[in-house]
Amino acid sequence: MTDALATGRDGAVTNWAGNITFSAGELHRPASQAALRDLVTGSRQVRVLGSGHSFNRIADVDGGAADTALVSLAALEPAVDVDTGAHTVRVSGGVRYAELARHVASYGLALPNMASLPHISVAGSVATGTHGSGNGNQSLAEVVRSVELLTADGQTRVLSRGEDGFDGAVVALGALGVVLSLTLDLEPLYTVSQHVFGELALAQLDFEAVTSAAYSVSLFTDWRGPRFNQVWLKHRGEAAVGFPWAAPVSEPRHPVPGMPAVNCTEQLGVPGSWHERLPHFRAEFTPSSGAELQSEYLLPREHAPAALHALDALRDEVAPVLQVCEVRTVAADSQWLSPAHGRDTAAFHFTWVPDTAAVLPVIARVEQGLAPFSPRPHWGKVFGADPSELGDRYPHAADFAALAQRLDPRGKFRNAFLRSFLGPFLR
Ligand SMILES: Cc1cc2nc3c(=O)[nH]c(=O)nc-3n(C[C@H](O)[C@H](O)[C@H](O)COP(=O)(O)OP(=O)(O)OC[C@H]3O[C@@H](n4cnc5c(N)ncnc54)[C@H](O)[C@@H]3O)c2cc1C
Repeated sequence: MTDALATGRDGAVTNWAGNITFSAGELHRPASQAALRDLVTGSRQVRVLGSGHSFNRIADVDGGAADTALVSLAALEPAVDVDTGAHTVRVSGGVRYAELARHVASYGLALPNMASLPHISVAGSVATGTHGSGNGNQSLAEVVRSVELLTADGQTRVLSRGEDGFDGAVVALGALGVVLSLTLDLEPLYTVSQHVFGELALAQLDFEAVTSAAYSVSLFTDWRGPRFNQVWLKHRGEAAVGFPWAAPVSEPRHPVPGMPAVNCTEQLGVPGSWHERLPHFRAEFTPSSGAELQSEYLLPREHAPAALHALDALRDEVAPVLQVCEVRTVAADSQWLSPAHGRDTAAFHFTWVPDTAAVLPVIARVEQGLAPFSPRPHWGKVFGADPSELGDRYPHAADFAALAQRLDPRGKFRNAFLRSFLGPFLR
């Protein structure tokens, strides 16, 4: 497995996008479970870094003192163990979706959904509530049936679906311990065909009808006009394509207008295995350090039309710093800290230009515009709200704080981000 975490010119550890330089001077890469355990028990503070695709300090340690450890699992022996009888796979903490999906597909099995990029780690993705799209598709965390954790005391604990606290243990923001492995539910392999349609005016948008037109639907706009530039439909199986709202495009497209489509998964309705169509980007394409920032807000799906009009009113401010905005849907789930917890959701994603100073004021305007719709920001992306303000948006925040305190009484796995979020609930 490759560890593609970026390091800056001076050797500093940065995230994939390069907008965050982690406070730790060093990234520990233990090569055995014993070395990992020693690191955990011997450090005052520990944070695990997955593939580093988050855009904020959620994975960071505080300061960079010698007794804090930022840890990558990339040097541990990777494991992807498929149980064909049980239709499950056990995947170790450092593995990425691309490797997992390829392996699972080779057994004639599948996951129900994937995110847009397959290069992200499984443990890091489910830890932040990462999702794909589809009115009937839940966040990626929802297929996790058990989590194997290395906790602050050096013990290994397994939490399984149905057990007390499990609903807080998957979308856990790295706050409970090191995720050594996850066991996921699988289903039989299926094919997906991807069709891209052209311009769709906002005034013509029937949100419910459009988002239920396929298994997974993404709407893309650059907000340079009151319209979507593209609509991507991912049909599961051989479903017929009926999409009266826009014309099909005749050539493959990239979500960002004008970018070459060569790195995108195959379009034009050519059927392929689920894992080669559900992500927007090909696994064999190696994204370099990303020249972008991302934000995303998840709000109740019934508010999507009004939220779109609120964003349209901000178009002149948003468009100059935007590469592309993607609108997706996510079915309600039961994970306490999932941004789709308890509500069928519309997710408004923004890929910004890589200019934090120019983007932050626009993010503040977007947050103001979406505030009436009780948005929950994506845990792994840039947002303006202080984490201490987010607890009110999660009905089980206090339950999560109690779980974190039970498994990690001294807060070894809590950094400034988590202390701020959990502060109001910790006793
Ligand atoms: C190009 C791109 C496309 C994206 N597409 C999507 C998308 O389609 N949908 C979506 O919802 N999001 C998307 N994201 C966001 C991304 O899925 C999240 O930021 C996700 O958390 C990234 O996983 P990671 O392994 O890089 O996590 P990191 O950023 O490394 O870490 C995230 C959190 O997980 C914790 N963590 C990671 N591994 C472990 C472990 N083994 N044990 C304990 N804690 C751990 C970290 O401590 C941290 O709190 C995208 C991001 C990028 C850059």
